[in-house]
Amino acid sequence: MDISLIIPCYNEELNIKPFFSLCLKTFPQNLKIEYIFINDGSKDNTLKEIKDLIKENKNYNIIGLDFSRNFGKEAAMLAGLEKSTGQYVALIDADLQQHPKYVYEMYNYINENPDYDCIACYPAKRKDSKPFKILKKLFYKTINKLSDIDFYENASDFRLLKREVVNSLLELKEYHRFSKGFFSYVGYNCYYMPYQVEERKYGKTSWNFFSLIKYALDGIIGFSTFPLKIATFIGVIAFIISVLYAIIIIVQKLTLGINVDGYATIVCLILLFGGLQMIFMGILGEYLGRTYVETKKRPIYIIKKEYQTKERSE
Ligand code: UDP
Ligand code: MG
Repeated sequence: MDISLIIPCYNEELNIKPFFSLCLKTFPQNLKIEYIFINDGSKDNTLKEIKDLIKENKNYNIIGLDFSRNFGKEAAMLAGLEKSTGQYVALIDADLQQHPKYVYEMYNYINENPDYDCIACYPAKRKDSKPFKILKKLFYKTINKLSDIDFYENASDFRLLKREVVNSLLELKEYHRFSKGFFSYVGYNCYYMPYQVEERKYGKTSWNFFSLIKYALDGIIGFSTFPLKIATFIGVIAFIISVLYAIIIIVQKLTLGINVDGYATIVCLILLFGGLQMIFMGILGEYLGRTYVETKKRPIYIIKKEYQTKERSE
């Protein structure tokens, strides 16, 4: 098998067949390709479309993994990586926003430059709104400062990986998955290639503002323990200031006999530190909650049924 294509699908009924036809048009006949469609608990007819595709294209190597419910794109990508047998593995969206011609381009590039172990595509131009662009910049700045690994700004999940990289990725078994972090974590020699993002023709994106914030937090919490240290830092500073202030008050009281009043100051300080403590308890809770979930070792996805065109060889 030359390339395994991993295609996570969530409510993509209108995209499955056009995606497959586009692949057939794009890839040369002699290239051996394994198509792995993962139906991530879609609520439309995505599964039926995948099953039809398998029925109608017996000469191709197509696998359909049907999840028992929606587990998320990260889980779908993991299932695909585990199933793949290709010498190279490409992750691509089903929504036709990522043209398969880039997979072929990546494949050729890595064959001509064998020193690279993986190729990651990044959008040449993105039509994000200004506030979104600023938030994204802020996220990458923060995460690069806070964690030990380097995150390449804008690099997407649209990638081609050598088998060694896939094997390393498969060793990361954690439940909270943040693949951008995993790709950086495993290291290897990665080449970044620009690509033109197409408009989504059918269906709609499954991201909204809140899910993106949650995703960003997953990234920061999953790859850095720095937020846990901020509380210590602020605590130490507050302690030093309060000791100094206490000495000043005592000296004032003993030498000048000044009655220190300051109702407003006290109320403000109580509210300030009450608020800070709540925030840091929340941060602690985020880490603790994740540790709790990780210790349960629940499966990351559940496959209800598997479909395929061929008996698996290799
Ligand atoms: N996807 C998935 N499970 C989900 C959400 C999305 O498998 O819970 C798939 C989706 O079908 C698509 C890919 O992940 O193939 C990217 O999703 P989407 O187009 O919503 O993201 P965007 O392109 O807007 O980043
Ligand atoms: Mg998309």
